[in-house]
Amino acid sequence: MDEVTGAQLIAESLKAQKVEYMFGIVGVPVIEVAMAAQAAGIKYVGMRNEQAACYAASAIGYLTGRPGACLVVSGPGLIHALGGMANANMNCWPVVVIGGSADRNQETAGAFQEFPQVETCRLYSKFSARPSSLEAIPSVIEKAVRTSMYGRPGACYVDIAGDMVNAKVDRIVSCCPSPPVSLAHHGAITEAISVLKAAKRPLVIIGKGAAYGRAETALREFVEKSGLPFLPTPMGKGVLPDDHPNCVAAARSRALLQADVVLLLGARLNWILHFGLPPRFDPDVKIIQVDLCAEEIGNNVKPAVALLGDINSIVTQLLGGVRNDGWKYPSDTEWWNTLKDKIAANAKISKALALQSTMPMNYYTVFHHVSQLLPHDCIIVSEGANTMDIGRTMLNNYLPRHRLDAGTFGTMGVGLGFAIAAAAVERSENKNQRIVCVEGDSAFGFSGMEVETMCRYNLPVVIIVVNNNGIYSGVDPETWKEMAKMGDLTSIAPPVTLLPEARYDEVMTAFGGRGFLVRTVEELRSALQLSLSDWERPSLLNVLIDPSSDRKQCPWLNPNVKTSVHLQ
Ligand code: ADP
Ligand code: MG
Repeated sequence: MDEVTGAQLIAESLKAQKVEYMFGIVGVPVIEVAMAAQAAGIKYVGMRNEQAACYAASAIGYLTGRPGACLVVSGPGLIHALGGMANANMNCWPVVVIGGSADRNQETAGAFQEFPQVETCRLYSKFSARPSSLEAIPSVIEKAVRTSMYGRPGACYVDIAGDMVNAKVDRIVSCCPSPPVSLAHHGAITEAISVLKAAKRPLVIIGKGAAYGRAETALREFVEKSGLPFLPTPMGKGVLPDDHPNCVAAARSRALLQADVVLLLGARLNWILHFGLPPRFDPDVKIIQVDLCAEEIGNNVKPAVALLGDINSIVTQLLGGVRNDGWKYPSDTEWWNTLKDKIAANAKISKALALQSTMPMNYYTVFHHVSQLLPHDCIIVSEGANTMDIGRTMLNNYLPRHRLDAGTFGTMGVGLGFAIAAAAVERSENKNQRIVCVEGDSAFGFSGMEVETMCRYNLPVVIIVVNNNGIYSGVDPETWKEMAKMGDLTSIAPPVTLLPEARYDEVMTAFGGRGFLVRTVEELRSALQLSLSDWERPSLLNVLIDPSSDRKQCPWLNPNVKTSVHLQ
């Protein structure tokens, strides 16, 4: 055993736990930690705001199954990261935040950027601790990494006293194994199969827990053998391809409303699924709930059958039951016909909107052309209100964990951090996969300076800003000028408005990336083709659309009220 510094011990402890990526912003007292991380073989990505750094580190957790690390300085640095920790917890994604903090002899002394960090992080994490000695660092980091992945995944925090960074200690580190996997009780499996077999209008809902749990292979076989229709949640998209014949995403409202039995695979009955309650669900719907978190079972709806355990294993158990007697839900039922009719009708409406040749373009036209050009294996990152909602219905996913969006917490500002994480994984694993970030103009603004990070590391992310001059909607440049003449804009400009035709493309060119100002279908197609052929640097397409463009009307929503996230 040889002696190392505290910084080296932190880095080697993370590496020993197979943490391969670190995102952060350095300063006193953590510069040495970032340098030691690189020396230990961890990839370090310096970001521009700790919030985006934490979003990126948590996306690594979702994409790879091992947490990314987020390295921040004390006080304000850690506080910026709290948004990322909250978002990771809400999404059930593992991440480990390492925060520098006051020296051991300066606690409560009014030290530089001193803050009650461990206490603060408790609300934002599953585990929050400050190693009491250098010798304790490896075991606290092991516990943080393990806790972030075991049970329901989430955020963990390790506080590092500033004076520990350069102190010397003997090293001892060992790795925690992958999370243990549990099966559902076999009696409950038998019951679930009999409920499914008795269903008249069954529906499988695939959530991002199924994506995180890497259940895609077993699930595909289960869906194909059982013949059941399935509906992905936003980030459940791609676990099975969106163009799979059993996918009923285009009939979402109908499928949810009329299903009599729902097999719920790794999705919470929260706002994303309308709480599993009327008016969006049948009041008598029988839910077969699959989750590894026992506390989740029964939230909002009492399940007909609860299958507690790992989705991949449980789907394999269900598959065993279906395989044994060759049961299959018939393809010629009234339920399938209803769903198929609805899918065809909805496709017609979207197509009509997409083919409108009005100028400026509407959302549907933009997404129609974007979807034609995107490669099937690209990772789509998306955020914004209309941009994310309409984009989700029109941009297909064909592979699991290839969609990252505002998620359970509906967080705006996650996109660029997520895209940077995906690009870092793409680069290190040589996947030759495009990362495409579809952003509303407002959403882009939250972490816009991260384009510098993309340019600095030559990460060839393609950013498409669907620019409607505002939050939900905006005004055109002429109206804006008229308003400015009428008086002080702070008194009269609608709070939803942003600067009309803002040149977000120039933010990208400022740092050496490609920028495109796009107004027409032709410009959109050629800019996207050029961007997709460039593997050297990032691109940003600033797509100016009609500031009053809206989603097609949905009977569930009052057209006069616009809320932040609509799901149809
Ligand atoms: P969505 O956003 O798709 O609706 P949620 O994030 O609400 O999904 O729900 C995901 C659920 O999946 C969480 O309740 C989480 O506990 C669960 N989960 C995560 N991984 C697994 C796994 N491997 N097996 C079973 N359940 C899982
Ligand atoms: Mg907008």
